[in-house]
Amino acid sequence: MRYSGFRVIAEALTGHKGWKPAWRDPEPQASYDYVIIGGGGHGLATAYYLAKEFKQARIAVLEKGYLGGGNVGRNTTIIRSNYLLDGNEPFYEFSLKLWEGLEQDFNYNAMVSQRGIINLYHTDAQRDAYTRRGNAMILHGADAELLNRDQVRAMYPFLNFDNARFPIKGALMQRRGGTVRHDAVAWGYARGADQRGVDLIQNCEVTGIRTDNGRVTGVDTTRGFIGAKKVGVAVAGNSSRVMSHVNMRLPIESHVLQAFVSEGLKPLIDGVMTYGAGHFYVSQSDKGGLVFGGDIDGYNSYAQRGNMPVVEDVAEGGMSLMPMIGRARLLRSWGGIMDMSMDGSPIIDRTDIDGLYFNGGWCYGGFKATPASGWCFAHLLATDTPHPTATAYRFDRFRKGLMIDEKGQGAQPNLH
Ligand SMILES: Cc1cc2nc3c(=O)[nH]c(=O)nc-3n(C[C@H](O)[C@H](O)[C@H](O)COP(=O)(O)OP(=O)(O)OC[C@H]3O[C@@H](n4cnc5c(N)ncnc54)[C@H](O)[C@@H]3O)c2cc1C
Repeated sequence: MRYSGFRVIAEALTGHKGWKPAWRDPEPQASYDYVIIGGGGHGLATAYYLAKEFKQARIAVLEKGYLGGGNVGRNTTIIRSNYLLDGNEPFYEFSLKLWEGLEQDFNYNAMVSQRGIINLYHTDAQRDAYTRRGNAMILHGADAELLNRDQVRAMYPFLNFDNARFPIKGALMQRRGGTVRHDAVAWGYARGADQRGVDLIQNCEVTGIRTDNGRVTGVDTTRGFIGAKKVGVAVAGNSSRVMSHVNMRLPIESHVLQAFVSEGLKPLIDGVMTYGAGHFYVSQSDKGGLVFGGDIDGYNSYAQRGNMPVVEDVAEGGMSLMPMIGRARLLRSWGGIMDMSMDGSPIIDRTDIDGLYFNGGWCYGGFKATPASGWCFAHLLATDTPHPTATAYRFDRFRKGLMIDEKGQGAQPNLH
């Protein structure tokens, strides 16, 4: 069934009896050509592009819970391509271009909203660093503008411009950045993959990966053994757990990241804003809630909930940037498990086991990467070669010293 305005009108006139479930609920088959572990944004996008762009068949996505129950449905919905380094910028710009046509491509309203993102700067040195980043973005075909203090003040007069320690001096803006309704992305890819014959199997946890003579043969699951010629792992915060089934230790730590939503307020922030003097980012949802977040919790965890010290830290960041946020009531908060890599950049690569491929290490920023990650992982699975925009995302960069460390923090995953 194609979704359209005419369909909505027709269904409204006939009692909404014609809507069908958006995807099937199939029993797993004995074997597939491709098994994707993880029904988050990246796993679903991989299956979708494998079927649609690379014309592959006999594909299953195995999800231990329900589709979209992981980080893809827990993030703060920000998309952007404002990166500095060569290994990253072309990939994230590819992703932003895919976002721009995504709703028409998979015929689903994902509320892609290019409302603009600004990164505030507070010192001359930070302005110079942002200028350099903006120039790198423009050289890679992305858009970037440097705003001065008056331009920022005209947009958001309520900010704490004259903060004695962190005065706001301007911002780097990417107008094509913005927000996307996160769970609709999972649903849109799921529906599009299902329509192309992909089996989406929920409540199916992978408990083992079987190999024979250095080649993958399938996966053990809570619903029995499922054979596979190729297995792609896209389980985000659970990457280390799943890869431990083949005794593979990853350059990744799992940490909790929390998100917060205030009560509904009148329109206040029409774009996305990040604070340059603390870790705080904020946008306003279409329902009026301020959606914001900050640092990860500092300890390793697989729990999808965080602790009070980070709540306090995020609240301090918000108060320092826009003091009136202290008058708003916090409506809800939650956590997701982040796969923090040692240089802050992801991995999309083959492993030493034939037929086993890995996608992970997305840190804070994997939502905006969803379309490109799916496309590039599908490219790798189908052709056994990396996509041109993802050639730097290899495992061996850690051994060879070819780190892609945007922030220059070194091997400190909690700082990326
Ligand atoms: C609070 C928060 C805010 C964020 N904000 C942003 C943001 O604004 N912008 C941005 O770009 N990124 C953001 N991110 C990061 C982004 O959400 C993630 O990097 C991205 O969603 C990870 O990829 P995914 O969607 O495939 O992960 P997930 O949705 O987590 O998918 C992985 C799936 O694998 C499944 N799984 C795990 N183990 C198994 C197993 N053994 N068998 C079967 N299935 C398994 C899980 O149940 C899960 O559904 C944020 C994350 C959080 C938590």
